[in-house]
Amino acid sequence: MSKRDYYLILGVERNASEAEIKKAFKRLAMKHHPDRNPDDKNAEEKFKEAKEAYEVLSDSQKRAAYDQFGHAGVDASMGGGGGGGFHAGAGGFSDIFGDVFGDIFGGGRGGENRAYRGSDLRYQLELGLEDAVRGTTVKIRYPTTVVCSSCDGSGAKAGSKPTSCPTCGGQGQVRIQQGFFSVQQTCPRCHGRGQIITDPCRACHGEGRVQENKTLSVKVPAGVDEGDRIRLSGEGEAGENGGPAGDLYVQIHIRPHPIFQRRDNDLYCEVPISFTTAALGGELEVPTLDGNVKLKIPPETQSEKQFRLRGKGVSPVRGGSTGDLICKVVLETPVNLNREQKELLREFERSMAENAHTHRPKTHSWLDGVKKFFDDLTG
Ligand SMILES: [Zn+2]
Ligand SMILES: [Zn+2]
Repeated sequence: MSKRDYYLILGVERNASEAEIKKAFKRLAMKHHPDRNPDDKNAEEKFKEAKEAYEVLSDSQKRAAYDQFGHAGVDASMGGGGGGGFHAGAGGFSDIFGDVFGDIFGGGRGGENRAYRGSDLRYQLELGLEDAVRGTTVKIRYPTTVVCSSCDGSGAKAGSKPTSCPTCGGQGQVRIQQGFFSVQQTCPRCHGRGQIITDPCRACHGEGRVQENKTLSVKVPAGVDEGDRIRLSGEGEAGENGGPAGDLYVQIHIRPHPIFQRRDNDLYCEVPISFTTAALGGELEVPTLDGNVKLKIPPETQSEKQFRLRGKGVSPVRGGSTGDLICKVVLETPVNLNREQKELLREFERSMAENAHTHRPKTHSWLDGVKKFFDDLTG
């Protein structure tokens, strides 16, 4: 795949300053960040593209190579054995993210003390078919993490404040001399936060967030189907260090219905029909989600015949035309007959026999087929 020009991707001049490049990337990254565009492949591609462009143009050595040789200059210097390759994430995602976004969320001082977005949550919601078709409002209760109200998320006891970590001077990192080398490490006292809490909040034990069961009213739009998701922005877990909350995804599951099956926007049901009604025709009461309706049965209706009731199906949640209700009639053989009824049926059968091939054309063509089959066999 041919790559686009890095300057073009970021929308900056070829002589753009470091600050301009950083600003351009920040703007693109905010816009296309996967957290803001869940399940959007296009945004993900754009984000990756911008990230790659920024990784090269923000590094003066790589930028010089790119200016001179184009993509070949940078790709060659990366693919060549050592180094591990830049696509594998030399200076990976979190570094860049921290570098560019650290100052936005005010975490610039301490290495790890930046804002994190809270986790997304998923809630499995079971609905009856009627509720899914008509829409409903459901109260749900789910365990989540919320900002501690006692300390407003600071983790410090009311009246006190987190203080700058004296071990690392608020940097979150410490330098350790090992022989000739000086190694940088995450501060062991504040674990990289750059701040320590001497007097922790009792409610959250200094975490700034607490576990809580949250109750929420969820509006389910009419027409939702199995597997649909409703996104409730900001109803996921609370962020850390003032970061934004995650989202809550409510996943719809439809309970099996005793009468109807749904396929796309159509509803299907089976209706038993008596032998007499099937033969003579008549009217049946059939159920719909809005109550019973009358269905006209023409004479000589065979078992398994389907009748379509237009517009008695589901109105799809994303718009479009309402589906149909498809009723399949199933012939019911009478049971528990008394002596008189049996005699009537025998009499009926005798009257049928006189002209059997006109009353029972299917049986006759079938018998002909069977006869031919045996004739062919015996040759
Ligand atoms: Zn520290
Ligand atoms: Zn607290």
